Amino acid sequence: MRIDILTLFPKMFEDFSSTGIFQRAVENKLVEFNIWNIRDYTHDKHHVVDDYPYGGGAGMVMKPEPIFEAVESIRQPDDNDKKVSIILTTPQGRLFSQTIAAELAEYDRLIIICGHYEGVDERVHRHLATDEISIGDYVLSGGEPAAMVITDAVTRLIPGVLGSDESAKDDSHSAGLLEYPQYTRPPLFKDWEVPEILLSGNHGEIARWRRRQAIIRTAERRPELLDKAELSAEEIKLVNEKGKKVSPEE
Ligand code: SAM
Repeated sequence: MRIDILTLFPKMFEDFSSTGIFQRAVENKLVEFNIWNIRDYTHDKHHVVDDYPYGGGAGMVMKPEPIFEAVESIRQPDDNDKKVSIILTTPQGRLFSQTIAAELAEYDRLIIICGHYEGVDERVHRHLATDEISIGDYVLSGGEPAAMVITDAVTRLIPGVLGSDESAKDDSHSAGLLEYPQYTRPPLFKDWEVPEILLSGNHGEIARWRRRQAIIRTAERRPELLDKAELSAEEIKLVNEKGKKVSPEE
């Protein structure tokens, strides 16, 4: 996959792209990552990227020309044969989730536009972006944290990015449940023991314990997620004992 980020603050991505799983994905050529400075696509002496809003009001609005020009300049001749998404980060977009991350992981190219100030000219929303994504119901000062969130969540789902000892399949939200509790050494820390089952070496029992814990945890913390989870009759009974009512028909 190729990911291109359009931003006014390229430096914000330096550490992000040179650490951890993401860096490994780039080194292993599973992801190509490019950062473009929107200011480089202006043609005036002062490289102006924003202007006053028509109709008045507080703040500045990002001009459309540099953003359109930046996107056009990085489009590739073979883009028409590929799955390309031009994503505008905005608090007005569809709410990002693990399901959307999995959907985007199927694309060949993501072009992510980071807004600033009061946002971007509406013509970018209407005539350039093919998708608009919000990472939550709050307002950030810029789209860079949102672009990092989207890039990170999508990259983990690209086949081969996580090593064989890491897996996204049990991660919270992957199968409609939160993940079970995780422990590592030491087996006793202060007065707190690791559950005995995890030390037993019995993989079948461990898998059953983890599934049960994932269901209990979800029922306690995010009961609304259970409405879409696939549960057996026995698991539905367990959920109902925890106070969240799920019927087999749901
Ligand atoms: N005035 C805009 C509004 O009320 O919809 C908010 C502009 S915000 C201060 C500046 C930029 O930050 C946006 O253009 C967008 O790129 C980014 N941004 C802010 N909140 C976001 C969110 N929840 N998800 C994704 N991007 C966000």
